[in-house]
Amino acid sequence: MRYIFENGNSNYDEQEEINILKYSRWMNSILSRSEEIGKVELPICSIILDERGRCIGRGVNKRNLNNDPLGHAEIMALRQASLIKNDWRFNECIIITNLEPCTMCASALIQARMGKVVFGAYDKKRGGLGGSIDLSKHKSSHHKMEIVGGVLEDECSKILQLWFKKLRTRK
Ligand SMILES: [Zn+2]
Repeated sequence: MRYIFENGNSNYDEQEEINILKYSRWMNSILSRSEEIGKVELPICSIILDERGRCIGRGVNKRNLNNDPLGHAEIMALRQASLIKNDWRFNECIIITNLEPCTMCASALIQARMGKVVFGAYDKKRGGLGGSIDLSKHKSSHHKMEIVGGVLEDECSKILQLWFKKLRTRK
């Protein structure tokens, strides 16, 4: 497992270690939900935690179900959480998701002023937070997010690899 802290702070402190344990627990529940949704959609699930660590939003990929090109798990979670929060700003919140957000979702998270983004597997083809391009560091980004990638990376990659393998054999 490897963790990349991109907040300009390379000190791996005790608090961050506690945080990683917390994120891993959430990631496990995200992975079981992803496996369920994997029967009909790409197995991706995202949750949003508020400043007290309460889950205020959850989303799964619904692109096929809703015929919605914007139907990514992160967008779904943002929509639910902004309703509950009654606000579009998420400075004090954390989003946790099993795959690195794509460029669309990374941009949406910047627009939402998300405090921290935690993800599992890197997406070298479409990732918007370092895998392919890093929009959080792009000059167009006026909001700086803290990025933690690679939480339960192996487990997260495996679910996606299996899903694509099944898709190929179905064709
Ligand atoms: Zn996306």
